[in-house]
Amino acid sequence: MSQLNPKQQEAMLYVSGPLLVLAGAGSGKTSVITRKIAYLIQECDMPAERITAVTFTNKAAREMKARVSKLLPSEKTRGLTVSTFHQFGLQFLRYELMHTPLKGNFSIMDSDDSKRLLMELMMRDNLSGAESRELVGKAIKMISDWKNDLIEPDKAMETLDDPEDMIFATLYALYERNLRAYNAVDFDDLIVLPTKILRENRELRDKWQNRIRYLLVDEYQDTNTAQYEMIKHLVGPQGRFTVVGDDDQSIYAWRGAKPENMALLKEDFPKLKIVMLEQNYRSTTRILTSANAVILNNEHLFEKKLWSDKGQGEKIRIINCRNDDDESERVAKEIVTHKLRFGNEWEQYAVLYRSNFQARMLEAQLRQLQVPYKLSGGQSFFARSEIKDIMGYLRLILNPEDDSAFLRIINTPKRGMGPATLEKLGLFAQEHSISLLASCTHAGLAHVLPSKAYGTIKEFGEFIEHYTRELDQHPDPVPIVRRMIDETGYIDFVRSDAKTPQQEKNRIDNIDMLYTSIQSLINRAEEDEDRTIDTIIRKLVLLDMLEQQQEEENTNKVNLMTLHAAKGLEFDFVYIMGLEEEMLPHRNSIMSETIEEERRLMYVGITRARRELTLTLAAQRRAGGQMRVTSESRFLDELPEDHVDWPAKAKKKKAIKDPEAVADEYLANIRALLGKR
Ligand code: ATP
Ligand code: MG
Repeated sequence: MSQLNPKQQEAMLYVSGPLLVLAGAGSGKTSVITRKIAYLIQECDMPAERITAVTFTNKAAREMKARVSKLLPSEKTRGLTVSTFHQFGLQFLRYELMHTPLKGNFSIMDSDDSKRLLMELMMRDNLSGAESRELVGKAIKMISDWKNDLIEPDKAMETLDDPEDMIFATLYALYERNLRAYNAVDFDDLIVLPTKILRENRELRDKWQNRIRYLLVDEYQDTNTAQYEMIKHLVGPQGRFTVVGDDDQSIYAWRGAKPENMALLKEDFPKLKIVMLEQNYRSTTRILTSANAVILNNEHLFEKKLWSDKGQGEKIRIINCRNDDDESERVAKEIVTHKLRFGNEWEQYAVLYRSNFQARMLEAQLRQLQVPYKLSGGQSFFARSEIKDIMGYLRLILNPEDDSAFLRIINTPKRGMGPATLEKLGLFAQEHSISLLASCTHAGLAHVLPSKAYGTIKEFGEFIEHYTRELDQHPDPVPIVRRMIDETGYIDFVRSDAKTPQQEKNRIDNIDMLYTSIQSLINRAEEDEDRTIDTIIRKLVLLDMLEQQQEEENTNKVNLMTLHAAKGLEFDFVYIMGLEEEMLPHRNSIMSETIEEERRLMYVGITRARRELTLTLAAQRRAGGQMRVTSESRFLDELPEDHVDWPAKAKKKKAIKDPEAVADEYLANIRALLGKR
């Protein structure tokens, strides 16, 4: 195992006060965190269950866990919390349920559910119409921003610049009220609710500050206001924490991340010690110099110097391609030849891109060349409709008040329930202040609905209630879930609904995978209470299982992922595709003038590479069914010329004559003309 350098050691050993490690990419920040966890347990005799480490993505949390378990035997790490902010928040809500506005069986709504709920609320308010889709998008963003800034609905109005936006503040209030009525939380609530509870309840704060003796946070630059306040309440005034970050890698401003939180730490904790790391252990000098040159075009909160002793290394290659097809083919072939030539492993390669759709063509090319690859950060497993449907059933069983789950599955598969019936059911539920599910089996409903519709609705209600009882505390829930889904006729529905045999197979496979994952979560649960179906369902909503499955396979494959998903990771050979204006930087960022965030993303991409970096761009790209001519990304020009190998540019330079030569030629031509006269 490598020795930490003196600065890293200083950061590891410092436990008597708050600490910020501020350093550029690849300087060993995450290494400091994992080594420090081991140090606290082994040398400071701190029990593992009193240590909490948080980060942002499931992948990063798993990676961190893996690194810690390499440093310590498993009995020493029992009870250690290494999780994402959201997982931590969920756990907190579970422990402190009585202090929340929630009941034990609360459900978590994903962004699709939130969208549907907002749509519904707008419809009720007669806001439907052509522009409603756009409005929903805007409403979601504004509500999420308010929540992450810890602004309550009644205060939201005051933050508005445009009085026309009043409607969003009204929607925000309605949305929150409905979430509570559904006994549900959205993703933001997983952070916001614990933070508010901690803010208001001194006793609870003491309890948690006692429980968490040491807190460590990776990728600190991406914390938003709510997360920052949560950290503050958890660590208390003494500030027993280590946070590490790099403001140049802050790439989640659209989720409310505030790199200024770095500066805020110093104000809130005057005793804050700051350690800067300057040696990069990841990349060659050329890669590092290029990354530094690009990020120098941004304004900086903190200046950082980075150096590496890995040698100059290869120049950064820039490859111009004719079009997007050509680009994918070129990258796939490059990887194959490079691997064969140097006898490398597939897993040493990564292809990064700005947007998920860029992977599609590349996947096809890789498959054609029989290159094994894994795709992470693509369409989440849970975004697939078949998974959402089955999760809808499970959610309704977990939480009978979850009206949004009810509405998702009441006609999936078709039960012949028309909109008129559903509207009457909705009204009935409202009048009696009960959930849609409870209304199904309410005796009074018989007077409201025609007998046939009533019969179907009642049967559905009883069906769900029956399985709720069967699943309650059952030690082996998966076979029961499977039986329930089979009984609904859902599988037949998938067969008849699928457009191709391949799609049918994929969907059925996905459903099987969901069952398998539930089973494996049950098998792996350490405590009995973690084995119940409600706990499992809640966990599932937070986990991207597909990603996890691939992680477990852990085979030798080329890595395909977005630049966002690549944060914190490293690979020997990195390709970044689509170095064009409107791709990277992304079109939206050009329009909204948030180029600096895109530049940080580019910086993150470059600094993932250990040994070689290749950038590609296409002269033409398909968009909306048409081939469009593209222009080179501005970031290419920000790379230091001496360190790049860009054949297309060199040629172009030769082709362009210097202005004096042009003028001479012009004069000569004129003279020749005059001479002829
Ligand atoms: P990022 O900003 O990209 O998250 P980071 O600062 O977290 O990067 P790490 O991932 O911890 O950096 O480390 C980068 C690489 O350097 C890893 O491969 C790690 O094992 C290695 N490394 C870290 N510290 C040392 C050291 N003192 N000696 C040798 N190698 C080291
Ligand atoms: Mg890191």
